[in-house]
Amino acid sequence: MANGPTLNPFEISQRQLDKSAKKLNLDPQVHALLREPMRTLEVHFPVKMDDGTTKLFKGFRVQYNDARGPTKGGLRFHPEETIDTVKALAAWMTWKCAVVDIPYGGGKGGVICNPKELSAGELERLARGYIRAIGRFIGPERDIPAPDVYTTPQIMAWMMDEYSKMVGYNTPGLITGKPIPVGGSLGRGDATARGAVYTVLEAAKVLGMNLKDATVAIQGYGNAGYFAAKLMKELAGSKIVAVSDSRGGAYSADGIDPEAAFEHKKSMGSVSGLAGTNKITNSELLELDVDVLIPGAIENVITDKNANAIKAPLIAEVANGPTTPEADEILAKNGKYIIPDFLCNAGGVTVSYFEWVQNIGGYYWTLEDVHARLEKKMVDAFHAVHEMAQSQDVDNRVAAYMVAVQRVAEVMKLRGWV
Ligand code: GLU
Repeated sequence: MANGPTLNPFEISQRQLDKSAKKLNLDPQVHALLREPMRTLEVHFPVKMDDGTTKLFKGFRVQYNDARGPTKGGLRFHPEETIDTVKALAAWMTWKCAVVDIPYGGGKGGVICNPKELSAGELERLARGYIRAIGRFIGPERDIPAPDVYTTPQIMAWMMDEYSKMVGYNTPGLITGKPIPVGGSLGRGDATARGAVYTVLEAAKVLGMNLKDATVAIQGYGNAGYFAAKLMKELAGSKIVAVSDSRGGAYSADGIDPEAAFEHKKSMGSVSGLAGTNKITNSELLELDVDVLIPGAIENVITDKNANAIKAPLIAEVANGPTTPEADEILAKNGKYIIPDFLCNAGGVTVSYFEWVQNIGGYYWTLEDVHARLEKKMVDAFHAVHEMAQSQDVDNRVAAYMVAVQRVAEVMKLRGWV
């Protein structure tokens, strides 16, 4: 990317913050604090591999800002993980928790590894090794991890178990996204996508758009993408015409059955090749003439290179950081309505918060309770952002930052940090 705009996610997150700080007339001392993570941890830890050798892995945990509460955020197991990606994601968690008004700061972690090449035993030893390495820096009142890219409820269970052994008592509140029998919450599995669909339903109302039979394209078919497909169909009555994953995509003008795509991916490793669909690439999917586009995979997929080719009038960012600042400007110029990532995908951490509350209280809620409370959080957050965008004449991303940054800044001032 020589001479091109930066794709460094942390620099992008700082530029997004700068833009809203200017609009907010933010105190420069508050701004300076919010531009950098409060704590960044890099660890190296050994893992015994199946062939008898010991391999050294590198991991990170970033505690970006804890003014509003313990830091909170997921863990990614990814071969291309970098400290700057983790820093950006931790910053976005700070804004995410603030925009849905839950009492957390933002954090994120990651391990450089390829989980697809690890056996189940190696994966378990890696998960436990990482927790031993960061164990003294986290805790239910300090920093609470959760799943993210390529980490699962099973991995959360191993991590909770390892931490509980370290401290000597059962500590379900250490980590969220756990399987139900070890203290997980009902409704956490599809929470990210469900929260996103709640915001899409609100956006459709303010845009005067009918979602029934509206066409939807979804990039990414992991936890978020699959449930987004299922729930756009179930809750909005929309038609999923395209889905994809890292290996390719599937298109059908007649509509794709989300379950069939899920089964196909499970048995074949990809949604591509699903019966009754045509193969498309990930970039073709983004440029489809659909009503709703859902980038639900990774960062930097909508850039200055393809933003002008995006046709969907409504873009719901289920992934973290899918759109670069240059692309944002192009999309705004073209009149696209974006539900920005840390608002759109805040449902996951919201139900994580519910899970933690249930763990600490030792009293477990019904699924109906979880759904009703999640819906309220998402609808309130959506309208706070939408109203900010209208009243300040800014795009939704700047508005979301303004709402979130203001909330964090207020607490920092009250606590006497600045
Ligand atoms: N990894 C998810 C996110 O990016 C969830 C974080 C959490 O539940 O703490 O929002």
